Amino acid sequence: MRLIIMAPPGGGKGTQASELCDRYEIPQVETGKILRKAVKEQSELGRRAEKYMNSGELVPDQVMVEIIRSRLRKPDCENGFVLDGFPRTIPQAEALEELFEEEDIELDAVIYLNVPEQIIYQRLGRRRVCPECGSTYHLDANPPEVESICDNCGSDIVQRDDDRKDAIKKRLQEYRNKTKPLLEFYKSRGLLNEIDGDQSIDEVTSAIKEALD
Ligand code: ADP
Ligand code: ADP
Ligand code: ZN
Repeated sequence: MRLIIMAPPGGGKGTQASELCDRYEIPQVETGKILRKAVKEQSELGRRAEKYMNSGELVPDQVMVEIIRSRLRKPDCENGFVLDGFPRTIPQAEALEELFEEEDIELDAVIYLNVPEQIIYQRLGRRRVCPECGSTYHLDANPPEVESICDNCGSDIVQRDDDRKDAIKKRLQEYRNKTKPLLEFYKSRGLLNEIDGDQSIDEVTSAIKEALD
């Protein structure tokens, strides 16, 4: 199964990708997570990406394509993967198509979670993440069992640096201008599955399951 999951920032990509990866036993390729790890380690990639991420801008395409190229060539991606956060621009989608051609593999589907912008602010404002293992929570919709503590690894959960109002605004702008055109791109290829993302987490999971079956 080779899938792309698309949504506005905070639309539920990570939450649903993680479900899909458990179900199909395939890796979750999450570009935001790869970048945040690089920033934390202050690698060359991290130092380059940091200023874009903090302001809510997209990291340049060339950088992202290189990351995906090397990640998808790893052996764990042989039987499939879920792309969570990539592609985010038309040039990224074109580069991905080229890569698939080179590797002689095909994309099975693109899942698009449609979530209105006013909901996004509620989602991101109340999102908490685990800085150690990357698990994602929501203070109302998906709280940890013990307040402020990651269920998975016991670390203190935190708010992401870019889940502030000014950065959210910029991310939504980037999404509208650069990422939304991908909907037509994948629709014209017969790959797009639009899901109402403004339902409970379980309802969205079921709707995705239905679309894929
Ligand atoms: P969200 O889950 O809120 O959509 P992500 O964790 O996917 O955010 O991404 C966080 C940030 O990392 C983005 O705002 C952007 O700066 C950068 N980023 C992640 N993926 C990409 C990509 N494919 N192209 C460009 N920038 C990216
Ligand atoms: P993305 O990866 O697209 O940025 P996330 O999966 O991190 O989105 O979800 C953003 C926030 O919204 C998280 O706090 C998550 O727990 C919460 N969330 C995800 N899906 C839903 C949903 N269907 N209803 C309510 N909250 C949700
Ligand atoms: Zn954790």
